[in-house]
Amino acid sequence: MFGFGTKNIGIDLGTANTIVYVDGKGIVLREPSVVAKNTKTGEIVSVGSEARDMIGRTPASIVAIRPMKDGVIADYDTTVAMMKYFIQKTLGRSNGKPYVMVCVPSGVTEVEKRAVIDATRVAGARDAYVIEEPFAAAIGAGLPVMDPTGSMVVDIGGGTTDVATISLGGIVSSRSIRMAGDKIDDSIIYHVRQKFNLLIGERTAEQLKIDCGSASLEAAEDLEGSTIRGRDLLSGLPKTVEISSVDVSEAIQEVVSEIISAIKETLEETSPEIASDVIDHGIVLTGGGALLKNLSEVIADETKVPVFIANEPLDCVAVGTGESLKSIDVMKKR
Ligand code: ADP
Ligand code: MG
Repeated sequence: MFGFGTKNIGIDLGTANTIVYVDGKGIVLREPSVVAKNTKTGEIVSVGSEARDMIGRTPASIVAIRPMKDGVIADYDTTVAMMKYFIQKTLGRSNGKPYVMVCVPSGVTEVEKRAVIDATRVAGARDAYVIEEPFAAAIGAGLPVMDPTGSMVVDIGGGTTDVATISLGGIVSSRSIRMAGDKIDDSIIYHVRQKFNLLIGERTAEQLKIDCGSASLEAAEDLEGSTIRGRDLLSGLPKTVEISSVDVSEAIQEVVSEIISAIKETLEETSPEIASDVIDHGIVLTGGGALLKNLSEVIADETKVPVFIANEPLDCVAVGTGESLKSIDVMKKR
């Protein structure tokens, strides 16, 4: 029998953030997917936001690791340690082991999916199940996924952008590209280095993206720039530079156009019926990347389809994963 203490939880194991949903409670934990480790002893120094604040600031004896890359597990042992920490933080040690639903990007291999299930079990789950990320995102965004009507969701996270059309409870067509928030940050780092001979860290690049990055170059002209600090590549010394929103936005154009191409290709593959449903209901954006300034307008302009940003876009996958926990009870009985 299943103990009374047994809980069902949903985990959005993202490249940038891990979010935990507890059945009956909702979202109880949101933390960056980062682990700080002692390089000599292998001991875990900190997990989550505390570890993220160490990125780029660690002494030789500590490394801050992001164990998920491009939506999949890049460092298995560290992922297990991170999940174990988050599960214990959520439930405490005394409760029975939970059944856990974890999401995976669409288009991952069986081996990558297996790795997620194994890691979740080793981290303390009684049993683990996976749900495809765009499907969870669509549920979390409140789309009518079970109805005989086509919906399109575009989830832009740290590692991947997942585009999918969904109808009658299943994914009809999908695409997953390794072009999302992290690539945008990298492009900003590269651009700043080329233009100003200035080396900036990934946290600085991310902040620049959030504050001054615009998907539309035209709109960037009306946005404020920022003052950034980094290391001058010529002198090797710290330097402060004024950067305009146009500069930041130029850096991100390539990633934005790759995302738009993925959306167009997915639309081209869908049946005329689903395409016409999507024109009626619009495309819904989820994930942190949905918040990039003017992105929804640029996508609408390029595809000629209305585009909406979901409420609380960063939470959609976790909420959808949580909603789907109801189906765990069905699966357990099999
Ligand atoms: P994942 O599911 O891969 O963990 P999330 O959906 O949590 O990713 O989104 C994280 C990404 O969203 C990061 O790359 C982050 O920089 C980006 N992001 C968060 N807020 C904003 C914003 N306001 N504008 C642009 N990008 C943002
Ligand atoms: Mg995500």
